[in-house]
Amino acid sequence: MTAETLFDLAEFEREAVAATAWDGAPLAYTTSYYSPAELDAAFDRYRAEFGGFGCIPRSHMWHRNSYNQGERAATADGHELHMFYADAWCKEADHDHSADPLPGGGRYQAVCPGCAWHVISERENDAVEAWHDHALPGWRSLPIMPRPAAAATDEKKARAAAAKWCAANYPAEWQRPGSPVRTIRGPHGGRHVESRSPFGGYDLAAD
Ligand SMILES: [Zn+2]
Ligand SMILES: [Zn+2]
Repeated sequence: MTAETLFDLAEFEREAVAATAWDGAPLAYTTSYYSPAELDAAFDRYRAEFGGFGCIPRSHMWHRNSYNQGERAATADGHELHMFYADAWCKEADHDHSADPLPGGGRYQAVCPGCAWHVISERENDAVEAWHDHALPGWRSLPIMPRPAAAATDEKKARAAAAKWCAANYPAEWQRPGSPVRTIRGPHGGRHVESRSPFGGYDLAAD
């Protein structure tokens, strides 16, 4: 097939999708609650109808981080964290948001589907912390882990040191799947990092 034929085929497929009714989550920025599966399905639909090129800035829709397909965390009692992002500002010359203005800037959304709970924030760390308040209340009183001697130069040693430190210093009820670890980072490492605690939970920057 020539490139032109392929292009026509893609165009044909998009038109076929566009002709199919959609009654899922809005194909636009929304602050209403939708489950992670509904948000994923809506973003898939948008891309099937309009293509993947520029889909994030043009749709303003909730989507998962492309590097890790959305951070996840889970507790033994059924809370899950699904993180989504949206471009809630607009630089598109052909868009008119005057009827339903965007808030501006990037937005972060943490969703706990089992509880139909969500929070939207301007800062990623705020959304992550709000989820921990929801799912793991009391985490703010956990002891802060000192910077391990092995630090970032040797990931394996750093993880082993963190596990050992938590085993010695964490209350027994916090030594369970999904528990976070709070760490001192210094001036340039303030992002909360998913899946980096010895329990598979978040590594939360404490400074
Ligand atoms: Zn929950
Ligand atoms: Zn726009």
